[in-house]
Amino acid sequence: MVSVVVDYLRHIESDCVVNNVGELADYIPELAAVDPDRFAVSVAVHDGHVYSIGDSSLEFTIQSISKALTYALALSLRGVETVDAHIGVEPSGEAFNEISVDARTRNPKNPMINAGAITAAALLLAPGDEDGTTDVGDVDEAFRTILDFYSGCAGRRLSLDDAVYRSETASGSRNRAIAYMLESYGVMPADPEDAVDLYFRQCSVRVTTDDLAVIGSTLANGGINPRTGRRMLDQVVVRRVLSVMTTCGMYDGAGDWVTSVGLPAKSGVGGGILAVLPGQLGIGVYSPRLDEHGNSVRGVRACRHLSADLGLHMFNVA
Ligand code: GLN
Repeated sequence: MVSVVVDYLRHIESDCVVNNVGELADYIPELAAVDPDRFAVSVAVHDGHVYSIGDSSLEFTIQSISKALTYALALSLRGVETVDAHIGVEPSGEAFNEISVDARTRNPKNPMINAGAITAAALLLAPGDEDGTTDVGDVDEAFRTILDFYSGCAGRRLSLDDAVYRSETASGSRNRAIAYMLESYGVMPADPEDAVDLYFRQCSVRVTTDDLAVIGSTLANGGINPRTGRRMLDQVVVRRVLSVMTTCGMYDGAGDWVTSVGLPAKSGVGGGILAVLPGQLGIGVYSPRLDEHGNSVRGVRACRHLSADLGLHMFNVA
């Protein structure tokens, strides 16, 4: 069985690695320093077993894939009502770093674009319950909470890539502009500098495709990490996160992605993609050359393959 699956993944690899289209994300200088030819695919099945090929133990930064996880954490710690009062769930059809908000509420349109993700991070910094039970605290403490949560979903201890974090901090004017715009509209729940700092740190967490696959299988499994048996999220939160990943996870490439691949997913400009087949699989892919939307070119191609060959599209009717 193992060799059949691995042989099949190798077949995908040989099809994908001939493709050299796309560019590294260079607006964060440190991200332009990676080897553009690296490639990995990992698939975690329902019992948590991970099948992988390529550079599956190579660490890269999670970048925007973190948005789905921090949104999940904010929903868990702050409650759906509070989060919904600050962040919409409508696809924006715009680039991930677009400086835009909902015309009526002035809230970010969804948590998968930067404005919404910075707000989700800010919600972790805002005061919690009156009795203090859900208080997270300052940026250091909030980041510890984030790292513990991501690590619990991945089933191993994750860490921060300091060089990428410093690079993001040094080149983050646009994200600061977004945070201050939200503050000027009166919809930023924490200090804008702190919110952006926390967001930069969460984007700079190192993962492998094996980690992404296990995180995906935790979501696929209704919030319980199948490798550790630990419940990380409520099912209600998982359903919400997967819904938003489906409609907004691939930015302005979301419609094309849903029609062709048909899986809730989230990409990051580090070159990773996390995809989920609810009830069954978590998928992690990595290849750092990006298309015009900021999605991994080979990663999208690998996921199209997996979906078509294995019949994974969630709207397949047998
Ligand atoms: N840290 C990146 C940014 O905010 C994440 C973007 C992404 O992965 N799409 O610009």
